[in-house]
Amino acid sequence: MPHLSVIIPIYNEEGNISKLFERLQPVISSLTNDSEYIFINDGSRDNSMALIRKLSSEQPSVKYIDFARNFGHQVAVTAGLDHCAGDAVVIIDADLQDPPELIRDLYHKWKEGYEVVYAKRSSREGESQMKKVTAKMFYRMLKKITSINIPVDTGDFRLIDRKIVQVLKQMPEQQKFLRGQISWIGFRQTYVEYDRDARYAGKTGYTFKKMTRLALDGITSFSNLPLKFATFAGFVVSGIAFLMILYALYSRFISKDYVPGWTSLMLAVLFIGGVQLICIGIIGEYISRLSSNVRNRPLYIINEKNIS
Ligand code: UDP
Ligand code: MG
Repeated sequence: MPHLSVIIPIYNEEGNISKLFERLQPVISSLTNDSEYIFINDGSRDNSMALIRKLSSEQPSVKYIDFARNFGHQVAVTAGLDHCAGDAVVIIDADLQDPPELIRDLYHKWKEGYEVVYAKRSSREGESQMKKVTAKMFYRMLKKITSINIPVDTGDFRLIDRKIVQVLKQMPEQQKFLRGQISWIGFRQTYVEYDRDARYAGKTGYTFKKMTRLALDGITSFSNLPLKFATFAGFVVSGIAFLMILYALYSRFISKDYVPGWTSLMLAVLFIGGVQLICIGIIGEYISRLSSNVRNRPLYIINEKNIS
């Protein structure tokens, strides 16, 4: 009997926890009778932690890790990975957007010999047009600018083998973009398609700010193209600036036609200033991540847990 771990990050999910467990348990127990559920409470401000504690007192297979504050979804999943013991590990959202019944399909693919079985969404319900469009664009852009093959339209809902968990634990970077890291690791990977449901209860914990951050973490962790763009833009702008210098000298000394010239001056200053700021910004994104890795603070702080 393989041991199965289920990792569930929780941020304000009081309306979903019992329903989730109700749907999850029959699926998992139909696959194995040796399983553990790891709930990571990522600084919820609602009743989630009390519900998890209650569930864990009724069900010995329910374990929890309670964070000292909100550290973010990727970090919550990482904590689960650090503490899980399964031969196979399932990562699933708590809001029932990822149907627990699909775990059967993931599991069977794993049994066929795949180390990573991710769930690819062929459609998504109950999410804003804005989110769908930006997500779609982001995954395609990321695929273009990275050298690894990060699957499009795929979140963290997946089943991974112990081998993958072992490698992930050796990847110490502070900016977690797990779906990228897992693609980077390799082994045999496959997918199962599904239709993503709307949230069962509550509202998304992924604010615009958190989404932007995840996107930037994904890009900076797996691509240096933005830095190359900065260099490229630098050369283009320098080329244009050189031509304008020649033109300015020509007007001043040869054609003597150097009337006020305020417009061209402003254009040049603004344009070059803009490009410089963009390039500094891009460098800044990388440097801020470098410095957070150098600081090497713990990724998360645990308030309380009932798992070793
Ligand atoms: N989540 C988390 N920390 C956060 C935000 C979200 O642990 O800061 C959890 C959340 O409880 C859920 C999963 O991550 O189980 C996915 O989040 P959500 O459903 O809010 O994101 P969406 O599906 O809208 O992208
Ligand atoms: Mg969700």
